[in-house]
Amino acid sequence: MKLDQGHLVISLDFELFWGVFDVRSLESYKSHLEKVTEIVPRLLKLSDKYNIKLTFASVGFLLAKNKEEIIRFSPKIKPSYSNSNFSPYRLLNEIGNNQHEDPYHYATSLVDIIKKNKNHEIGSHTFCHYYCNEIGQTAKEFEADLLASINIAKQQDITIKSIVFPRNQINETYLKICANHGILNYRGIEKHWMYNTKDTKQLGKTKNRIYRLLDTYFNISGHNTHELEIHYGLVNIASSRFLRPYSNFLSFLEPMKIQRIKRGMTYAAKKKQVYHLWWHPHNFGDNTDKNFKALETLFIHYSMLKSTYNFNCKTMAHLSKITKN
Ligand SMILES: [Zn+2]
Repeated sequence: MKLDQGHLVISLDFELFWGVFDVRSLESYKSHLEKVTEIVPRLLKLSDKYNIKLTFASVGFLLAKNKEEIIRFSPKIKPSYSNSNFSPYRLLNEIGNNQHEDPYHYATSLVDIIKKNKNHEIGSHTFCHYYCNEIGQTAKEFEADLLASINIAKQQDITIKSIVFPRNQINETYLKICANHGILNYRGIEKHWMYNTKDTKQLGKTKNRIYRLLDTYFNISGHNTHELEIHYGLVNIASSRFLRPYSNFLSFLEPMKIQRIKRGMTYAAKKKQVYHLWWHPHNFGDNTDKNFKALETLFIHYSMLKSTYNFNCKTMAHLSKITKN
């Protein structure tokens, strides 16, 4: 559907170690994850300064106050991936009991800060960082996971309206399930082969990785701005761009990265479309100040677009409600 004005949407995949447990060791990533405790409040402060609304898509585990709650809210049927490495439930014996003991698997204090702030949204990144296109898991298992995510949020007085699928694996059959349980929208993917997540092996292929890296700095896939479309009962607020963290190795290309995002935002503002930027809080764990500086540059650009083109910024839930008017 056509919009009356362009919109900036920002979503953060909020997951701590639950987002990388199958690809990294805790030891190798600890320092990034530890920084998330300072990154989230800083993000809120900077966003509030520029009236930017954030959507934190949180792994359900992070809404638990302790291990007992994780176990209590866990679904009876767990994802039966052919590759059992994808299941985080195998880690439950190893994690601490609460955030105080184990800040890599719990985020109670950060969830409280986001909730109390009230300007931003907490959505779902599924309960257990569920991979919707991996072999072995089923629609029933996904539904059980989704309900666990909705229920653990409910006990924190959070109503889940938005979902971001882990690794951006979108299974169209599951969109209907989400709609049946009150979810309004999801973050779709860019319409270009390099971002394809249907075949889960494609995303990690060297050719795709190189193209995505180049696309960060050079306009290969286009601006990926869009109007709102409804898919299987959910509004697709598709991704425009992953905000790649500052790279020491490619630091000379950083201005091009920011310029590319600014151009996409300007395009969305002029065409009355949506520009959806996303990343993970832990992506700012290294070069934190440089990443925040780049983000502020984008927020300043947003302010300019707001006054020039009436560009707006909304959480995913608020934006999807436009389609109901
Ligand atoms: Zn994730």
